[in-house]
Amino acid sequence: MKIQEADAKSLLLAQGLPVPGWEVARTATEARAAAERALAAGAEQVVIKAQVLVGGRGKAGGVKLASSADEAEAVAGRILGMDIKDITVRKVLVAAAADIVKEYYLSAVLDRSARRILLMGSAEGGVEIEQVAVATPEAITYQHADPYLGLLDHQARRLAFAMDLGPHWKAGVAIAKGLVRTMQAHDADLVEINPLAVVREGGAGSGDGSGERLVCLDAKVTLDDSALARHPELEALRDPDEEDPTDQLAREAGISFIKLDGTIGCMVNGAGLAMTTMDLVKRAGGEPANFLDIGGGARADKVAAAMRLILADPKVDAILVNIFGGITRGDEVARGLIEARSLQERDVPMVVRIVGTNFEEAARLLQEAAFETAGSLDEAAAKAVAASGGAAA
Ligand code: GDP
Ligand code: MN
Repeated sequence: MKIQEADAKSLLLAQGLPVPGWEVARTATEARAAAERALAAGAEQVVIKAQVLVGGRGKAGGVKLASSADEAEAVAGRILGMDIKDITVRKVLVAAAADIVKEYYLSAVLDRSARRILLMGSAEGGVEIEQVAVATPEAITYQHADPYLGLLDHQARRLAFAMDLGPHWKAGVAIAKGLVRTMQAHDADLVEINPLAVVREGGAGSGDGSGERLVCLDAKVTLDDSALARHPELEALRDPDEEDPTDQLAREAGISFIKLDGTIGCMVNGAGLAMTTMDLVKRAGGEPANFLDIGGGARADKVAAAMRLILADPKVDAILVNIFGGITRGDEVARGLIEARSLQERDVPMVVRIVGTNFEEAARLLQEAAFETAGSLDEAAAKAVAASGGAAA
């Protein structure tokens, strides 16, 4: 789950990291009031930032400076309602504009293959790190945190020195460690600060870092969906303005669903069986339209929800149902399929294979309802591919 910059910044603040203050506004008038407060507190300018769950807001025109309350209101009015990468901006963050001396990049990501948190730092901040990784890979420094001990002092110092933080290296060490704590406290997949910035504080800075401070100017946090059950308080950070309707339906129904690019919709119980089914569809010459695991003990209503998810994709022109009945009862699934088909708006050919618990009853029900069935998985995949227009060669 992605969370908004303002919420990500709250999580960083709670770990004691330096984040300049901000307010969130939903209207231009609210933005004006927030700007007035920041200007009254001594800011020369304010920054207005679109709160949308995509990167590159700056380039898209979603980050702007303003020098007066009037200008802040006008700028916020332009940003609110603007579309950034197909997402409509509904809120903006308003903060005293930072006087940036230099921008850096620092992030913590879950490195699944190493089973550790990986810190990535670079003196090339403010730009997309993917570009840095391609153009100048040597400009990025990596450190793995220890799962028990966190990021050790010498590792954090290595990062800070490689990032060329100069007199701000101590602040860099503290921030790097704070990112690891943030990852661990909330089971995050990613905590990214881009830019981490040296900013001037009231008056000119000097080479030794006095009058300057290292702060988190932007923050991006992604939480591990599978761990959200352990953090009920984070549920409040879900932004209903931006959740994809398909993802929302899948989450509410308790179905694991990942949309892919093919034409054959797959409804399967069990993640391993779902992957195998997708492999067999490919081997039979087709392309799966999705990964879908309806989970154990799925009942008729869940089957109907799965069908809606699959059919929401207009590219789907055939459906393969592969159920291995254990706790999941074959006859329940068959009833769900019959009900779902009677409700569905689009008639798409379907091939059903159900084995295991109550498969005889399932077969009888499906036969009565004139469903196309298959005995083996290979046969089911072949039939689904044949039924799919795109792959029928
Ligand atoms: P992103 O484009 O979505 O990553 O949004 P950022 O918050 O990273 O902002 C993009 C760029 O806008 C930053 O790299 C900065 O150069 C600039 N920017 C953001 N906040 C400020 C600020 O407070 N003052 C100034 N001068 N520039 C800012
Ligand atoms: Mn950024």
